[in-house]
Amino acid sequence: MCSGDVQPQLYDSMNIDLIREEYEEAQNRSLEGQCSSMLMTSDSNENEEQLYNAIERLQDLGGENSESTTLGDEKFDEVWLKHMENHYSQQMPINYIRQSHELRSWLQYIPSENDPSKRRLRCRICWRFYDILRLQRRYRSQFADDTGFEIDQAREKNLRRLNAHSISAGHKAVIQELVKSEIKRLEWEFIDAQRKTDLENFALKATSRMFRTVFAEVRANIPLQSHHLIVDLQKINGIRLGTHFFNKYGAKRIIENISLKMKQTLIQELKSKLFPFSFILDTSDAGYHYLSVLIQSIERERPVVYFYKLIKLGTDETGKGLFEALTKELIDDDLLDHTKLNLVGVATDGAMSFRGHKNGLVGHLKRLLGKNIFTIHCLAHR
Ligand SMILES: [Zn+2]
Repeated sequence: MCSGDVQPQLYDSMNIDLIREEYEEAQNRSLEGQCSSMLMTSDSNENEEQLYNAIERLQDLGGENSESTTLGDEKFDEVWLKHMENHYSQQMPINYIRQSHELRSWLQYIPSENDPSKRRLRCRICWRFYDILRLQRRYRSQFADDTGFEIDQAREKNLRRLNAHSISAGHKAVIQELVKSEIKRLEWEFIDAQRKTDLENFALKATSRMFRTVFAEVRANIPLQSHHLIVDLQKINGIRLGTHFFNKYGAKRIIENISLKMKQTLIQELKSKLFPFSFILDTSDAGYHYLSVLIQSIERERPVVYFYKLIKLGTDETGKGLFEALTKELIDDDLLDHTKLNLVGVATDGAMSFRGHKNGLVGHLKRLLGKNIFTIHCLAHR
């Protein structure tokens, strides 16, 4: 441990990029061979379990010594140099310290304004970590003490002490251990991030499978009551569907989500085009009373029909009531201006509430638009 194994360039600059490079190599070398191969194919319970075990093992390895520290010289305070110039211009190799990135990376000066006997030199790194790391006592330097070194009257002696500490086995050992624990910490961080991404990806995959399932159910007119059967069937066939949306209420939420998204897309599409369009309207009274609204337009020179909305009606089913219900939705969806500009026709059945010239929905629409529109009496309703 004290044989000076830390590579010179790592030791000199001690920057985080080098540590990261080191880490990547370690990543390739050691137990993570096992982990990373699992990360690629974590789509089974067994692999996930192995992954968690590996992470726990790494946590143990990192353990209490994984506290990270900066090994650069940003902890060195320039004020110390000023203080030394005032009090130890003869005793301290001040310019040498100023220029030595290496010394500044560990040297700590304790300036004491009032009590010169308390002005000391300390190694920030050894003082903080030597004892925690439980390194061999015989290599421990006085620089690791709380009280540190007293500044000697002889400049040469101070310089020698500083340089000797830089290359001492004890000091090197501390740095080596810190680099190791930093590597462990980064490994742990990396695997943790990977695990989170894996879990997120898995959740995303499971949710999109469920969305696809519900969408297919709706398209095939399968009642919501049967949703759980379709889910069970897929599970039996080995499809992992996560842990949510198993019952009909979950399926309902998915349907609401999909339809909201589809409606937004439709509205956006309509507003982005200036094609003329017409409404196809009808009322239904299956339990509640609804006004169903379809939009017929032109896409790529062909007529297309979109389902726009099923509007729940109140008690007022006169032409005025229908008109108000429809315009309220158009206003909510910010489609009123688009309608005024591009609506060219309305197809309905023969009911007076629709077709009444004065009080029917169509009459109200014409007055709103301030122009005439085609009114078509639906052939199938005649
Ligand atoms: Zn040290």
